[in-house]
Amino acid sequence: MAEKRDYYEVLGVERNADADTIKKAYRKAAIKYHPDKNPGDKEAEEKFKEAAEAYDVLSNQDKRARYDRYGHAGMGGAAGGGGFGGFSGGGFSMEDIFEQFGDIFGGAFGGGFGGGRSTRSRTATRGSDIRITVKLTLSEIAEGVTKKLKINKTVACEACGGTGAKDKSSYATCSQCNGSGYIITVQNSFFGRMQTQSVCPTCQGTGRTIKDKCTKCSGEGTERGQEIIEVKIPAGVSDGMVLTVRGKGNAARQGGVNGDLLVVIEEEYNPQLMRDGNDLIHNMNITVTTAILGGEVEVPTIDGKARIKIAPGTHAGKVLRLRGKGLPDVNGYGRGDIMVVVDITIPDEITKEERQLIEKLAEQPNFKRAAGVENQNIFERMKNFFR
Ligand SMILES: [Zn+2]
Ligand SMILES: [Zn+2]
Repeated sequence: MAEKRDYYEVLGVERNADADTIKKAYRKAAIKYHPDKNPGDKEAEEKFKEAAEAYDVLSNQDKRARYDRYGHAGMGGAAGGGGFGGFSGGGFSMEDIFEQFGDIFGGAFGGGFGGGRSTRSRTATRGSDIRITVKLTLSEIAEGVTKKLKINKTVACEACGGTGAKDKSSYATCSQCNGSGYIITVQNSFFGRMQTQSVCPTCQGTGRTIKDKCTKCSGEGTERGQEIIEVKIPAGVSDGMVLTVRGKGNAARQGGVNGDLLVVIEEEYNPQLMRDGNDLIHNMNITVTTAILGGEVEVPTIDGKARIKIAPGTHAGKVLRLRGKGLPDVNGYGRGDIMVVVDITIPDEITKEERQLIEKLAEQPNFKRAAGVENQNIFERMKNFFR
């Protein structure tokens, strides 16, 4: 970085100058080197920034004390303590200055350069966003998927490349702002004369107007069209999530900024595997005999089936976990489980023979007493499980 001038020298004040003197000196410098007064003058712009930087330090007690002790070396980087995040990075931008010191140009002083701020950044027109819903299966969610979406939208006019002008020579300098892109309005207020800058309404800040319009789009710069957009959907997304694809929305008027494409995720309903966060719940019906004798059953998984063992004496409401068979976390924090919730099916009808067998069974000692009462209440068990 080029050697820095002393801050007191920059503002032309004594080292023991009081706050008011410093403020006045800065205001004087700011008005003298203000970019509106010195359009296109790089040196003035540098001086303007230099004064703002000096004022930022000297108007703050802490920073000034540090500067007095250590000079510019004390101002660098993290030690800068807020403000503009340290000047070591090469000063700050005009935007910063208007943002931070806008008030010093403002009405309270009368006749200053009001506003400034973000109105200086030219506000280009922006196209609208497009919202589209994408339905995903469980396996698409589990793996992540790239979808090719055909979107009907506003696109840049092919004939004029989105400019809205017939050709390169079709432009004229905006007569309202004389090409600067902004206009200054003067208002008289209690405090004095106030000047406000705003984006030129005629040219929307571009500084030029179109003399001969493109005949295809009548000067709009846009037309209806279609675009095939590939959207990468990460694994683990869930219903209602919105992915933003920047700049893939509708094109803006006369070459402005495109809107965004908002992709809303919709999960296809899967009654076999119901989602609970990254876990999947499967309600499994087993027969009475399997519940008593144990056995092996088939469970649906995201990409197929798994066989699991049912232990002898399995009660309704028991939950079996298939670890890591659920969905991946969208932020990469592991994977959920499949939780198999056991239910026992009682046959609606039985044959005469079956009736005889069951009646015989009912006489046996282990079937005579009711199974442990504490196991009967499925709702209690479920409640405990989900707690
Ligand atoms: Zn056109
Ligand atoms: Zn204009």
